[in-house]
Amino acid sequence: MKNTVLVVEDEHDIRELLEYNLTRDGFAVRAVESGEQALAAVTRTPPDLILLDLMLPGIDGLHVCRKLKADGTTANIPILMLTAKGEESDIVSGLELGADDYITKPFSPKVVVARARAVLRRRAEAVHGEDEVLTFDKLTVHPGRHEVYVAEQQIELTSSEFRILHYMARRPGWVFSRYQLVDAVHGEKHAVSDRSVDVMIVGLRRKLGDCGHCIETVRGVGYRFRA
Ligand code: CA
Repeated sequence: MKNTVLVVEDEHDIRELLEYNLTRDGFAVRAVESGEQALAAVTRTPPDLILLDLMLPGIDGLHVCRKLKADGTTANIPILMLTAKGEESDIVSGLELGADDYITKPFSPKVVVARARAVLRRRAEAVHGEDEVLTFDKLTVHPGRHEVYVAEQQIELTSSEFRILHYMARRPGWVFSRYQLVDAVHGEKHAVSDRSVDVMIVGLRRKLGDCGHCIETVRGVGYRFRA
């Protein structure tokens, strides 16, 4: 699936240059020319990455950055700032607000594309970094090694079973719908029936033996992991 990027730039030529080069490199690009449009676009469909010019008419880039980082639903979207020479204090403010990186104008489009890729790669690695070992009483889930132990005995799980267990065990007490679990296992928009999730859960419980009760059915909703 293509990475989506939102370009926020009021200068027409630069906007077109970025759109052209990012599209050619395989990004799905949307472009807007003001801070107001940027906030509306992100709220409508959050992109994977935002290229944000700081000097914008109306709401400037720093303001956009602050708003996005203050909102839990958009705070995790990486931001690559586009800045002009002499904007050092703005760059520092932006980085402190949580922007990931910056590029100073004039820039080569190739460098922008490479930086955009680097930011997304770092993000992906950071997500994997959440792969800490989870331990609950007798149950241990080791994401890095894809291993599960019950009372120090290794349990053989299919990769789908493992992903469902890990997904739920990372958020004990949270209730997940079958759709969320299908997404967790197969990625979004995958045609898997609710029923197959139920079958997987039955298998998972059986394999977990003493710890099978950790996976609770929440009637009419889905499932929850109870430590
Ligand atoms: Ca500008």
